[in-house]
Amino acid sequence: AKESSKSKHLVYDDSMNIKMNRKLELINNLHKALEKKEFELYYQPQIDSETNEIVGLEALLRWQNPTLGRVSPAEFIPVAEETGLIIPIGDWVLKTACAQNATWQKEGYKPIPVSVNISTIQFNEPLFVDKVVTILKETTLNPKWLHLEITESVAINDATLTINVLNRLQKIGVKIALDDFGTGFSSLGYLSKFKINVLKIDSSFVQDIGEDESTITKTIIVLGKNLNMEVVAEGVETNEQLDYLKNAGCDIIQGYLFSSPLPAGQIEKMFKLAA
Ligand code: C2E
Ligand code: CA
Ligand code: CA
Ligand code: CA
Repeated sequence: AKESSKSKHLVYDDSMNIKMNRKLELINNLHKALEKKEFELYYQPQIDSETNEIVGLEALLRWQNPTLGRVSPAEFIPVAEETGLIIPIGDWVLKTACAQNATWQKEGYKPIPVSVNISTIQFNEPLFVDKVVTILKETTLNPKWLHLEITESVAINDATLTINVLNRLQKIGVKIALDDFGTGFSSLGYLSKFKINVLKIDSSFVQDIGEDESTITKTIIVLGKNLNMEVVAEGVETNEQLDYLKNAGCDIIQGYLFSSPLPAGQIEKMFKLAA
């Protein structure tokens, strides 16, 4: 009995050690990932539910490391946030997405907005708006083709500061999308306080479609439309979900049903096919 309790203890310690080692390994490699050019942006098409046209792209970060292999953003983004590395990494994402979108427009493809995920830590940087202005100038992208995806947590500390930053961004012509809508603590209060252009219904609500009456999804769509927002449904995987969302008046659809996130080269092939 003594031995088995000891081994239990050992197992526990081991799993803690494994987690710790994994995190240290992530941190070590994340530090060098930018200079070693290990990041790539993938783009997921957003589709007009009426016309089936591509009306937007969400930029999603991919990390391929020689020793760790491919690491999911769900794992490394939180680590990048904890270490502050999300600032240089986020700068790279913003620059790359804007430059790519400007290039596509110069090549003659129909202009569409690119949506970039902005971590709360980036959004709350004192010079964040200036940074966005500089990047738009450097990449020559018209601000109206940049959407910034934020989550409710940006306003966690200071609502007045958030309102100020949102106003400045919208004044320069950038649009704001509220990501993962419905999953936070203050979703409704958020919409009354802050000016948001695009509402992204979290995939968890989309997954519920068909299982119950899905009144929440329908209610969110009606709410968004009443507030003059564009409504995007995320994580759409089935035709049943698509039909339901179309009927409920959802403008834009994003999910594996149409396309997973793809490298820039493959997006360009889709553009060529559509042209
Ligand atoms: P998110 O912003 O909510 O992005 C949507 C996630 O859902 C993406 O996962 C996307 O690949 C995935 N997805 C798209 N369609 C479907 C579908 O039909 N079914 C399912 N099950 N999933 C779908 P991904 O690319 O692994 O990113 C995970 C999260 O990591 C993102 O969630 C976002 O919070 C964060 N992230 C990714 N790229 C960046 C970035 O450049 N900056 C920041 N700050 N965060 C990022
Ligand atoms: Ca997003
Ligand atoms: Ca989301
Ligand atoms: Ca999410």
